[in-house]
Amino acid sequence: MFSKLKAKRLLSFTMYLATGYLVVYALCTAVMLYMGNRVITLSARNFDKQNVRADCERLTELLETNPSGNWMSEELALERYPPSTIFALRIINTLGYIEYIAITPRGTQMPGWGKTGKGPVDFPSLGWEEIILPDTDRIIQMHTTQINDGRILQIAKGSLLEKNQKQMMSRNMTVFMLFSLLLSIFSTLFMIFITLRPINKMIKSIHSIIDTGAFESNPQRVKSMISELDTLGSQFNIMTEKYASLIQAMRETMDNVAHDIRTPLSRIRGASEFALKTEALPEPLANTLVDIIEDCDHAQLQLQNLLDSREMESGFVKINPLPFSLSKIIGTVVDIYSLIAEEKSIALTTSLPAEQDVQIKGDQNRIARILSNIVDNALKYTPAGGRVAVTLTQSEDSVTIQVSDTGIGIPPDELSLVWQRLYRSEQARKSGKGLGLGMNIVKLFTEAHKGQAEIESSPTGTIVTITLPKNNTYSV
Ligand code: ATP
Ligand code: MG
Repeated sequence: MFSKLKAKRLLSFTMYLATGYLVVYALCTAVMLYMGNRVITLSARNFDKQNVRADCERLTELLETNPSGNWMSEELALERYPPSTIFALRIINTLGYIEYIAITPRGTQMPGWGKTGKGPVDFPSLGWEEIILPDTDRIIQMHTTQINDGRILQIAKGSLLEKNQKQMMSRNMTVFMLFSLLLSIFSTLFMIFITLRPINKMIKSIHSIIDTGAFESNPQRVKSMISELDTLGSQFNIMTEKYASLIQAMRETMDNVAHDIRTPLSRIRGASEFALKTEALPEPLANTLVDIIEDCDHAQLQLQNLLDSREMESGFVKINPLPFSLSKIIGTVVDIYSLIAEEKSIALTTSLPAEQDVQIKGDQNRIARILSNIVDNALKYTPAGGRVAVTLTQSEDSVTIQVSDTGIGIPPDELSLVWQRLYRSEQARKSGKGLGLGMNIVKLFTEAHKGQAEIESSPTGTIVTITLPKNNTYSV
């Protein structure tokens, strides 16, 4: 029942509108047909009645002045009636005998009428009667009246007016209905278009905001000829503009704060490192200095991620490709994280090709950040006593950096989500702080170098593999 209702609700608005118009069109047509039919029937029958009334008045007057009725056939001149007209006249005398009867066309059977001389017949009731002739299925109007001498005069008449007019109506109606069907299809499409256009624009805008996460990416100006939709559209425009400027202001503030904090952070880190080299430093003081350095490193990575993330929002990662020693960068990054590893009692090891220094062409800073983020995650999501290994291997034209850990792992159904911006697993939220920016940056920076980023995981650990071309011609 519920799913039925849900499915019903999910029918597109176009369907509702089109069906609605179709039903209204069908109802209007049916009502129109009925009304037209009724009007034709009534007016045609009325026309026959008027004819009969006129005949009655004329013949009553004549019968009163000349009761013999010998003049009747001459007066009636039945031969002049067109074959389509049915005419019947009967005079019944006071004894109930039929005194005169005339019917055209010949052979027409009037229900209940006998022949001249036959009788006596029952006196018919006076006034109007509608008679259906069984042979021809035609309806005729009959009037029964009593003249001054007590005789009964009955006159019935039926023209083909009703039939002809109905035929004409059905011909005209077919043309009219086809025309109005076309018109209503066009007007339906037009109504659907003007109703749905602003709604579709809003849906498009919402999709683009969801896809890009940027309110300012809303290029659709929602306007409509329908007042309510126009109001809704302009409110939607105002709302997105408001949010866009609010978010823009927040971003600018964030950029300024990130830039302002970077320099003091480096200074604090440098000073702590320098202080750490002091001889005979008491252990608690040394531990505190290590903590400060760790926090600085983490905060610096977060700040850098935020700034990178901002840069990538433009959808464009600028690569500054120069030859550099990848072995050296790996050494530097591992060196930075060795303090954190030591503090967490995690064995952080490096395995580089022994024979030579591995050189590649790429953006040294970006690749350092790829590595920092992967190592940072490995240490963050590996409990104390675990192992993190960084391995570098090379082939003729590519290098592979692999960071494996013995950490908490990632559930298989969430593995593909780690590359998404702001994604953090439930487990990760419990294990450590973060914004969910790192892996997204890893992916985008790797792809900007025309490399590949892959991840595999099990409950006993995770392996992230980055493959980079050694020498690429980057389109910047
Ligand atoms: P940030 O990097 O911004 O500090 P974060 O580390 O949570 O935050 P990402 O680096 O983007 O975010 O990682 C996304 C998610 O992927 C993490 O929250 C975590 O759930 C999962 N993840 C990534 N690397 C690992 C790993 N080595 N072990 C377990 N989970 C991981
Ligand atoms: Mg991370």
